[in-house]
Formats: sequence, C-alpha cells, structure tokens
Amino acid sequence: MRTVGLIGGMSWYSTLEYYRVINEGVQRARGGHASAPIALQSLDFAEIRECQLAGDWERAGAILAQAGQRCESAGAETVLICTNLMHKAAPAVERSIGVPLLHIGDAIADRADHEGWHTLGVLGTRWVMEEDFYTGRLRERGLDALVPQECDRIEADRVIFDELTQGVVTEASRRRFVDMITGLHESGADAVVLGCTEIELLVRPGDVDVPLLDSMRAHAEAAVTVVLADSAALSA
Ligand code: GLU
Repeated sequence: MRTVGLIGGMSWYSTLEYYRVINEGVQRARGGHASAPIALQSLDFAEIRECQLAGDWERAGAILAQAGQRCESAGAETVLICTNLMHKAAPAVERSIGVPLLHIGDAIADRADHEGWHTLGVLGTRWVMEEDFYTGRLRERGLDALVPQECDRIEADRVIFDELTQGVVTEASRRRFVDMITGLHESGADAVVLGCTEIELLVRPGDVDVPLLDSMRAHAEAAVTVVLADSAALSA
C-alpha cells in the first residue's frame, strides 16, 4: 500500500474523521486487520487561526509547507491538506514537496462528475465562499458554483469558527445550515458541497432532502484510492 500524508489539526475534530474514513475504506477493501499507512502532521490550529485573522497567509503557507515536507520525509507518496480553507496555501505546499498534493477541489469535482452534478452550492468559511482559490478550482473543472447571500455567509463562518472547530454542535446551527442548504438547492444547485471539513459533524445526509457532497468524505475517499492504487493494479 502507498503511504498518504495528512496535514491535519485544522481542526482536529475533522482530522479524526479523515483518519476514520481512510482506515475504514482500507479495511473494507483488504479485510482483516488491514489499516492505512498514514504520515500525520497534526498542527496547532490556534497558530493557524492567528495567521488567518492577521491575514498572514505567507506564514500559514510556510507552516503548512514544512508540515508537508515532514509528511514526505516520513514516507508519504501523496499529501493532503485536511481543510478546505487552508487550500489557500496549496501552492506553497506544492512548491515545497516532491510528491503530488491531492487537492480537495479535485476530489469534489471528481465526485460531482461521477454523480452528474453540474451546479454546486458551496457552504464553508467566508474565504472559501468568497475567494477564487476554491470556487475557481471547481469552475476550472467545468462546474458552476453558487454561494449563499452575504448574511448567510457571515453566519456560516461564525458557526464554523465559534462552534464546529471547537467541537460545539447545536440544534440551532443545524437548522440554520439546513435552511442555507435548502436555499442553495432552490436557487438551482444540483447538490450542496459541505465545503468545510467539520460541517458533516453538524448536518447529516438524513437532515435535509438535498443531495450533499461532503468535502471531508470525498477527499478522504480519494486518499483511499491512492493508498490502494498498487493493490488495484496487482489485482487487475
Ligand atoms: N476545517 C475548515 C475547512 O475545511 C475550516 C478550518 C480551517 O482550516 O480554518 O475549511
């Protein structure tokens, strides 16, 4: 099996889910005690959050790039950044490592293509919804991206940072997210991207009658394909 590197801890609540989904996928495929070779770099999210609030993306990029290099030194043949937002630092990480970065936007686009979805609603932090590094990546793949109106973007960002990334899940926020998801669907989205790796902890597929594309799950499942790539080739 191939080793994947995870740059995680942003937050650790969703990194835990990456670890679970990747290992479950490998065990399902290989059976018995099989588990995934993972090189994990779990960062201190407080330090990253400080960079975000100060707008110091260069420093954040340097921290993630060093973590990527440590993954590679530990044997990773592919590296993942386990957050949507911190893909703002994807170019810095890519420049610093000699192995491929598995971009979360590509994992999402692959899943959308597979499902035949063309227009995606995107829910996440404000940077994810408002800047081009994320929705632009989806558009480059031929997908249309819709985002909520400004007051909803502010509320989604607040829930993510004041609650979800600190392990707080409330019924009131679940209802707000369900309303935003329904609104995006009514505006024409074929499916709504849970474009923050913690949203799946708040909104589960049964909570809303709209197709959901969970970014954490799509990304982690793409990592399973990488881990198993050689065994698939052998059994083909
Ligand atoms: N995990 C979140 C995301 O997927 C936000 C936390 C962060 O990276 O700042 O965007």
